[in-house]
Amino acid sequence: MYYPEPVALLINELAKLPGIGPKTAQRLAFYLINSPPETARKLAQVILDARDKIRFCTTCFNLTDTDLCGICQDKKRNQQTICVVQEPKDIVAIEKSQSYKGLYHSLNGALSPIDGVGPEDLTIHKLLKRLEGGQVIEVILATNSNVEGDATALYLAQLIKPLGVKVTRLAYGLPVGAHLEYTDAVTLTKALEGRQEVEEK
Ligand SMILES: [Zn+2]
Repeated sequence: MYYPEPVALLINELAKLPGIGPKTAQRLAFYLINSPPETARKLAQVILDARDKIRFCTTCFNLTDTDLCGICQDKKRNQQTICVVQEPKDIVAIEKSQSYKGLYHSLNGALSPIDGVGPEDLTIHKLLKRLEGGQVIEVILATNSNVEGDATALYLAQLIKPLGVKVTRLAYGLPVGAHLEYTDAVTLTKALEGRQEVEEK
């Protein structure tokens, strides 16, 4: 043990965060230890607040601090279109492009047999429930352009098309393997505008 236990524990926890290696964890830990106590206290508090207050929207599974997220609450949005994404951060990416005014549904993942993720692990059941009312006329599949995203889109298309709902997929001028969250606004706008109906198998 090179460090007193509290420091070692802090470094250990920081190193568990995505994108933080042992060296960065060590640097962050020393920064916090050398900062005024108020800095560490504030950071700890905002982490706790975010964790405690934020939950999934009961309708679309976007992140929210109320029962329904702001998008689901907004009656001015087009209620006839649902854009299906893998993660809440994908919703943020599309919102930033300002090219979509409908509703969303976050699956909170993608089908991946290798990782043991099946349909029951995603929010697919809730999506199908939303389509039952007959209000939605188009579902846009905006899952990532990789093996898991494509498999998920195909699976969903096969479930949704028989319900008489139009199913479209983003036009992948998006590079293959692209993660939606890293796609710039112009490319996303084009991908949305050029979306194409999923062919009948
Ligand atoms: Zn919502």
